Amino acid sequence: MPRSYVREARKRVAPKKQRIAPIIERLAELHADARIALRFEDPLQLLVSVMLSAQTTDVNVNRVTERLFEKYRRPEDYVAVPQEELERDIFATGFYRQKARALRGTMAMLIADYDGRVPDEFDELLKLPGVARKTANVVTAERGDPQGIVVDTHVRRLSQRLGLTRQEDPVKIERDLVRLVPRPDWGRLPHLLIWHGRRVCDARRPRCEECPLAADLCPSTRVPG
Ligand code: SF4
Repeated sequence: MPRSYVREARKRVAPKKQRIAPIIERLAELHADARIALRFEDPLQLLVSVMLSAQTTDVNVNRVTERLFEKYRRPEDYVAVPQEELERDIFATGFYRQKARALRGTMAMLIADYDGRVPDEFDELLKLPGVARKTANVVTAERGDPQGIVVDTHVRRLSQRLGLTRQEDPVKIERDLVRLVPRPDWGRLPHLLIWHGRRVCDARRPRCEECPLAADLCPSTRVPG
């Protein structure tokens, strides 16, 4: 890739504060269907799906949860079976031992401290075993009250390519995004970046010729200006 294109493109784009609104607008137009790919019907299913999605694809999680949610309907159901049985039921999502342990710990805490309900507050979610910042962010965002911005591998790559952050660490990337992105967009921005990353801005071969950000909004575009 001729580096001179990249240098020229960097000079061509406006500061990130001026670009963020049109970036969101154009991505929202292109990916009007962008939403979470996990399937769930209530907060408990949402929490379980997100916990199972670590290190695997959403498609894989959906395949597993289709049966899982038939069998496990309440937090009590997850602790009523032996650990090994739950491990077998979530085996296909990978890291099944850690995930089963986290699920059982979380369910026990939901029963003991939250009356069997998934708490709404971000800080309360973080107290649940195996629930880290990313999971808590996804859960609060999907429940309509995002407390931060979800940073996964696509969000990280695209934020860097779009010059929205220079950071590598997800927590620092989130801090940069939270400062830059208007709060009403905290929930939808990750979906837009994830879908754009899957469909257009591929990790290895970004299709800049098809990208609506290439002409004036992306400093990493491979399309010569
Ligand atoms: S596809 Fe190209 S122009 Fe579009 S965001 Fe990715 S690197 Fe930038």
